[in-house]
Amino acid sequence: MDLLEKCRAYTRADEARDVGLYPFYPAFQGPAEGGQAVLDGAEVCMLGSSGYRALSVNAQVIGAAQDAIALYGTSATGSRLLSGNLDLHENLEADLADFFGYEAALVFSTGYMTNLGVVSALAGPGDQVFLDEKAHASLIDGARLAEASGAVVRHFAHNDPNDLARQLAAAPSTSSLVATDGVFSMEGDLAPVAELVAICEEFGATLLVDDAHGVGVFGRGRGVVEQTGMRGRVPLMTLTFSKALASQGGAVLADAKTIDFLRHTSRTQIFSSGLSPADTAAAHAALREVRRHAEAEPDALAAAAYLRRALDALGYDVADSAGPVIPVRFPDQLSMLSAQRLLVEHGIYTNAVLPPAGEGHQLRIACTDAHTPDVLEAAIGVFASLREDLLPRYRQAA
Ligand code: PMP
Repeated sequence: MDLLEKCRAYTRADEARDVGLYPFYPAFQGPAEGGQAVLDGAEVCMLGSSGYRALSVNAQVIGAAQDAIALYGTSATGSRLLSGNLDLHENLEADLADFFGYEAALVFSTGYMTNLGVVSALAGPGDQVFLDEKAHASLIDGARLAEASGAVVRHFAHNDPNDLARQLAAAPSTSSLVATDGVFSMEGDLAPVAELVAICEEFGATLLVDDAHGVGVFGRGRGVVEQTGMRGRVPLMTLTFSKALASQGGAVLADAKTIDFLRHTSRTQIFSSGLSPADTAAAHAALREVRRHAEAEPDALAAAAYLRRALDALGYDVADSAGPVIPVRFPDQLSMLSAQRLLVEHGIYTNAVLPPAGEGHQLRIACTDAHTPDVLEAAIGVFASLREDLLPRYRQAA
């Protein structure tokens, strides 16, 4: 059969389009971060961005990216190993290591490539990888590559240190990597980092925390490792620049020898071009902004706490979550997609989450520093006015 036959037979997206409930790939006309965004020519309240600190529209960050283009051009035009290494990359790495309390850092061209490249370079024949069952796709894919080269991959129950301990106790005593998200992107819940550290130390396993969603938000900007008091005890931390740090790219933090090993062996580092000058400079400027305001709690947290309480009071099913992410649960896919569409029609953009991105049927709402009380009040007004349309769906299903 023709390889592309499966594409012609693919109808899922068309089925959703046909009934006017296709929620993906909206094209925003302008910044998709911040309190407001423009969609189909109309202003919408953006409640779907992970730009938690609203820094992609910050003058310092934009200026740094513009200056970098003027001085370095638009592209690194080569792998860092050969011709694409810039002092901009190394200066950013030095500041990342210093801020997060590690000996060294290595910048990659996306957060996804960071996890893929780190896990697959570190785990190979004879090693074991233990992943939280809800770990991000980039950790899962890194583990798949490790498995292809001979590592054994296992999954432990979500945020369940006891299950991890049981599995480590039962596994052969060989070198193990334990990997988890710091903040889970869809539900917004935090990993029990202190318990995971204790177990990894007991069993001699190496812990990797991917803090894509915690950096810039928790622990005085340093993420959940700092927030849980585990600074210095998590040997590997990864992060992305594409959320609070308002850019593109990612980084791994570790001891100097591990970073040197990854610089020379990680395939997503070696076989991919260096991060562009503008992205590197923007991430660096955003890091400086986070550091400058590190002692103040991000407005995104207060905004999310306020919105979560308001939605709960209105009768929406908001699950337990601590940070800027608020999952709003619906009983089935149709009610969730209808709610997403209705909210867009009323000027509120939220993310529709379908498997494999998340379980169940939920809208993912995220607050940023740009969600001022006025913006939130307007959004809450819409959720209140649509209550009668959206909430009966809960009751019908109950
Ligand atoms: N890890 C987690 C937990 C994420 O949510 C994401 C992005 N969705 C990534 C890694 C990948 O980051 P990037 O967008 O920079 O590739």
